[in-house]
Amino acid sequence: MTSKAISVIEALVLKAMAGKHSVLEAMGRYARGEGGPAILSHMYGISKYQFRGFLQRLYMRAGSPVHAMLYVSMFVDHALKIPSVFNDDGTVCRICKKVLIDVFPEDHIKKTHGDEVRRWVAFVINEYRKAKIPGVIGGGSQQV
Ligand SMILES: [Zn+2]
Repeated sequence: MTSKAISVIEALVLKAMAGKHSVLEAMGRYARGEGGPAILSHMYGISKYQFRGFLQRLYMRAGSPVHAMLYVSMFVDHALKIPSVFNDDGTVCRICKKVLIDVFPEDHIKKTHGDEVRRWVAFVINEYRKAKIPGVIGGGSQQV
């Protein structure tokens, strides 16, 4: 697992922990070529700017758009299993019980709960390895 792949996994983990699973689902479909940013943003009820902003960050983390989409398609389904750390209206962090006002949720998680983030990154890598079936495209000997 390269540091760039791990960096992409971390971005997916932060998004899931922030409770933005719809953004991950939209990005997963985009990575599989199932629609453009405008239609997928609309389908999942998220802002086009949020979608495009996340896409740009993934490109930067992966080093190229091609790698970003490869890593997203490999890992997004496993990241979707991670529960939100926030309460239902997204204002209280369940880990530290802090009320978050005017704070970008991913920033709070990254700064305050790094151990949890690392634990979930390891979880995604482990789930990916468990799901790999040798001899099938996308699995087996593929080096990341
Ligand atoms: Zn917290």
